[in-house]
Amino acid sequence: MHSNRFYQGMTQMLEKQSFFQKVNANFDKASRFTDYPQGLLEQIKVCNSSCHFTFPIKRDDGSIQTIHGWRAEHSHHNLPTKGGLRYSTLVNEDEIMALAALMTYKCAIVDIPFGGAKGGIQLDRNEYSESELERITRRYTYELIQKNYIGPGIDVPAPDFGTSENEMAWILDTYLTMSPDKLDAIACVTGKPIEQNGIQGRREATGRGVAFGLEEVCSHKDDMKQVGLESGLKGKSIVIQGFGNVGYHAAKYLTEAEANIIAIAEIDGAVYNQKGLDVEKVAAYREETGSIRHYPDATFFENPYDSLELECDILVPAALENQLTAENAPRIKARIIGEAANGPTTAKADAILRKRGAMIIPDTYLNAGGVTVSYFEWLRNLSHVGFGRLARRFEESTYNAMFRAVERATGYQFSEKERRTVHGADETDLVNSGLQDTMINAYQEIRDTRSKYGKNRVNNRTAAFITAIHRIARSYMQLGIFP
Ligand code: NAD
Repeated sequence: MHSNRFYQGMTQMLEKQSFFQKVNANFDKASRFTDYPQGLLEQIKVCNSSCHFTFPIKRDDGSIQTIHGWRAEHSHHNLPTKGGLRYSTLVNEDEIMALAALMTYKCAIVDIPFGGAKGGIQLDRNEYSESELERITRRYTYELIQKNYIGPGIDVPAPDFGTSENEMAWILDTYLTMSPDKLDAIACVTGKPIEQNGIQGRREATGRGVAFGLEEVCSHKDDMKQVGLESGLKGKSIVIQGFGNVGYHAAKYLTEAEANIIAIAEIDGAVYNQKGLDVEKVAAYREETGSIRHYPDATFFENPYDSLELECDILVPAALENQLTAENAPRIKARIIGEAANGPTTAKADAILRKRGAMIIPDTYLNAGGVTVSYFEWLRNLSHVGFGRLARRFEESTYNAMFRAVERATGYQFSEKERRTVHGADETDLVNSGLQDTMINAYQEIRDTRSKYGKNRVNNRTAAFITAIHRIARSYMQLGIFP
């Protein structure tokens, strides 16, 4: 089996372009369709500030280890900056700057008033105990505070690869301890547990956004015709790579939309069933055994990369960057690539896949659900009241009054079941509605940009970058920095 590290090393040898260079190449390609001054484009593209720091931690066995951490704030045109915190052995400065830049463009594409940021710690979380991870996270947060790289109006982390609500709770607690009387301190981090001022639906948000996004993509008959597919998600065969937060939730909500998840790839193997996998059963099996290996009712692939080459309608890479490369792209048969992970497709793979007629739905759009709901969480924290709390009962009694008026006027009696379908919107309803609206509107904007410049000249990725450049450039010009 190829290890992730082996695969990425091989990729880098074959395609000598760093992740940040790849993001910048996409930016340059899009910027040619605009007429902003070169200096302004350069200012949008560069990383405004980044920080590498090291600190010691005491392991459980008493030994001392040096930990390497980074935080990059790519663009200060909007504050706070916003972006996830990643725990992975592959973390380095280039990766963090590239991911921070993607966050800037992503926020602009879905029209969220944040600049982009990203943080990372170079470690394999499986090699550390829970208490070691807590010490590392708290110390990392302390470093961020010391360097002014965190705060509700400065820079706001969130979960990413290898982190979850637990790490966000430790970040919050460390920040609160260091700033006891700051009213808005709870907005210093998002993706927090519900009990710690988190928001309903944040955990699921990125995967749910992927499903909303793909639903929107597949609803356009002419686009689907171009890739040889019927419109609608129903019945589409889908392969998912990475069964973590994003991959699991994407698979769950795509299943709810009646798509057919035929394969799931994890780091230690893939499972495949042409008739469709029961996503919840695969998740329960992994919970029980610690892996999806040899899940019953499916064919097992020892090498997870083999499953990416299966005949399918949609391939959803939801693990890490550089997974679809010049090496495997010629064998990938999916008609649509839905980039749930950040940067999963190398530049060469991108060209190969498009040449074959595949449609790529870019990361800057498709995985924006996470930051969208993080934005809602941040707003909720600043307002200190949950969405729906003030209006829900009022809405419900208004609807009930309407029901009674209709009954009186028509003589019709609504059943209990019919009455139950009507309720005031609670936080979950509002978050999901805001997320769906965001994913639909952003895709419409990308499509409009694509048609404005011509489908054959501008693909989805370039159109998304053009949309972002316009929004950021306008913001800089309104700030009066470039009179
Ligand atoms: P996660 O740590 O929850 O899950 C990642 C999963 O991928 C893990 O289960 C891991 O074992 C698996 N994996 C790693 N390498 C693999 C390989 N080569 N083949 C198959 N599986 C592999 O991380 P996540 O939060 O789900 O993030 C996944 C991707 O989505 C990352 O690129 C991240 O930047 C991006 N993303 C995450 C969020 C979010 O809200 N969590 C938001 C936007 C983008």
